Amino acid sequence: MTDLTAFIAGLPKAELHVHHVGSASPRIVAELAARHPDSKVPTDPEALADYFVFRDFAHFIDVYLSVVDLIRDAEDVRLLTYEIARDMARQNIRYAELTVTPYSSTRRGIPDTAFTEAIEDARKAAEAEFGTVLRWCFDIPGEAGLQSAEETARIACDLRPEGLVSFGLGGPEIGVPRPQFKPYFDRAIAAGLHSVPHAGETTGPQTVWDALTELRAERIGHGTSAVQDPKLLAHLAEHRIPLEVCPTSNIATRAVATLDEHPVKRMVEAGVLVTINSDDPPMFGTDLNTEYAVAARLLDLDAAGVATLAKNAVEASFLDAPDKARLAAEIDAYTAAAGG
Ligand SMILES: [Zn+2]
Repeated sequence: MTDLTAFIAGLPKAELHVHHVGSASPRIVAELAARHPDSKVPTDPEALADYFVFRDFAHFIDVYLSVVDLIRDAEDVRLLTYEIARDMARQNIRYAELTVTPYSSTRRGIPDTAFTEAIEDARKAAEAEFGTVLRWCFDIPGEAGLQSAEETARIACDLRPEGLVSFGLGGPEIGVPRPQFKPYFDRAIAAGLHSVPHAGETTGPQTVWDALTELRAERIGHGTSAVQDPKLLAHLAEHRIPLEVCPTSNIATRAVATLDEHPVKRMVEAGVLVTINSDDPPMFGTDLNTEYAVAARLLDLDAAGVATLAKNAVEASFLDAPDKARLAAEIDAYTAAAGG
């Protein structure tokens, strides 16, 4: 068997929990900053590498917002999206459901149709150029309140870009109860979108229950605190409701104190379908390959075990059955060739 790091790097993968602006690597940020010389963000890659070393969580938010500030027009949106796909292709990510927050852009004055056309243009170009298939999850930025929920549901349901498959909810959980978003999820689900809210990242298992019962979640973003409730774990396992686990993110945001205390093993032991994801990879100094390596260590996996994680993501994705079968077969063929 080949070295596990090399095996992971070459493994065809799917990613289900990764944010649009949060995927802006220093290389992409440099390109965006060059388009907007009045911004305070450095354009030199070395200075940018320093800029991305976070002193604390407040500093992380400052940097994140300064990157948000670089997304000022439709061309910025297109460039960001296309370049994210390039970074994904370099990691052999074959399919990704990218969490996009249209409200952040429309609030800044980018017209909704210009925004959706920009991501769709980038999606088609990236698939043709890099072979990475992108789909969208439009998410409500919870901290921006019900007005942002209304706007996100309107854009999702009325404009309904071709690549859109799901509807999400991000931002802080403390002080932002999930049930208030039920009407917006009801609308999105009625329009044929899948429900994938974040829940149980920084609050307890009740938030996950709320996401299941009120928002009819089909997958849970994080769900870290689910391990505190054996009934909830059993429910997730029985109903095959996958968790989108992002180990390094959980450490960066202090949802979990240390990697060795991460509950991913308890989730797997309870029979829950676990997928491994990177969340805001450059911001957390990681990428999907690194997250697979972390998971392999925490779960004590060999190459075949890592390949199973990749197939979990395919199974938990919103690809249709033939595309799932094709990607799973690609993973099997790669694994057989590496082992043989
Ligand atoms: Zn997230």
